[in-house]
Amino acid sequence: MNVGFLRRFLAPSSIGRKDLSEPFSDEKHTYATDGHILVRVPRIPEITADGPESLTSELGKDRLAFFHDKIAEADWLEIPVHPSSRIYCEDCDGSGFVKDCPECAGEGGVEWETAFHVYTNECKTCEGEGTVPGQASDQVCPACFGEGRSYPFDKKTTIAGVCFATRLLARISDLPGVKIFPVKGADEYTFPPSLFKFSGGDGFIMPRKG
Ligand SMILES: [Zn+2]
Ligand SMILES: [Zn+2]
Repeated sequence: MNVGFLRRFLAPSSIGRKDLSEPFSDEKHTYATDGHILVRVPRIPEITADGPESLTSELGKDRLAFFHDKIAEADWLEIPVHPSSRIYCEDCDGSGFVKDCPECAGEGGVEWETAFHVYTNECKTCEGEGTVPGQASDQVCPACFGEGRSYPFDKKTTIAGVCFATRLLARISDLPGVKIFPVKGADEYTFPPSLFKFSGGDGFIMPRKG
């Protein structure tokens, strides 16, 4: 595994969160996460940044190590999402890149005021998304991860009773030998991350709340 491989699991640097847009390491592993998926691979020596304590200690050391030992091989499931079933990505117009909407400056809404009130309307230029299709010098489209093809935002895939956003599953479904262990919440209000593993690493993926 190398740094280029990890990049696809990071958020764009424009979101202003270094912990979500740069990989980091502890003594044994290197991690990348955008807050929806966390990938862990054996330590890559050139990644020396320390991650946030909450991720490297809690997620990395305790939870991943603990769970893996307890899961029977037969309980790791295939991910029924295949990249070939993706459709044209509307968020980036198939270009793979987006930029802040010039009309609303990335806010998704535009304000206008009368003498008495300030009104906010959904921005018609970007339909409330905050971004418009861009080009290669802009940021990678978060919907299709730069590939120009994705799944509709509301498409869901349920595995063993746990619901995931299909576009999120698609990010890990082509990892070599990938299997998922869906983790159900204790009740209808809790949505714990599920685990996945592949040849070369493992990680967490967040479910979709219904
Ligand atoms: Zn806009
Ligand atoms: Zn896109």
